[in-house]
Amino acid sequence: MSECVFCKIANRLSGSDGEYHFENDQISAFNDINPQAPIHILIVPKRHIPSIVDIVDSDIELLGKMVRVASELAKSHHLNTNGYRLVFNIKKHGGQVVDHIHLHLLGGQQLGKMNNN
Ligand code: 5GP
Ligand code: ZN
Repeated sequence: MSECVFCKIANRLSGSDGEYHFENDQISAFNDINPQAPIHILIVPKRHIPSIVDIVDSDIELLGKMVRVASELAKSHHLNTNGYRLVFNIKKHGGQVVDHIHLHLLGGQQLGKMNNN
């Protein structure tokens, strides 16, 4: 079995330690264990893809679906009026810690400006 923590959580082979918000055959979404905003949900494919640098043309539909899940979750969490942020961290300089693609949905308060650190 894969040792990847998000493979396990997304495929329900272990708990997420956070509430699940969405699941279908391809995608799982659950609360981040260490939230950086009042709403902090991770949208995670069930299939292991290490990072955005690894995506190929056949992944485009899956990535589009992840963004769509994020937009629906944002709407259901009443974030559409004030807005929110979607983030992919990518490898070391991007601050990626878990090497399995995940889209962060952050919102529920004014988020800080993007900067260099
Ligand atoms: P990254 O920095 O790789 O973009 O973000 C990884 C995120 O996964 C972090 O925000 C971290 O808090 C979250 N995380 C790491 N391990 C777990 C876990 O076991 N369960 C949940 N729900 N979130 C996790
Ligand atoms: Zn994985």
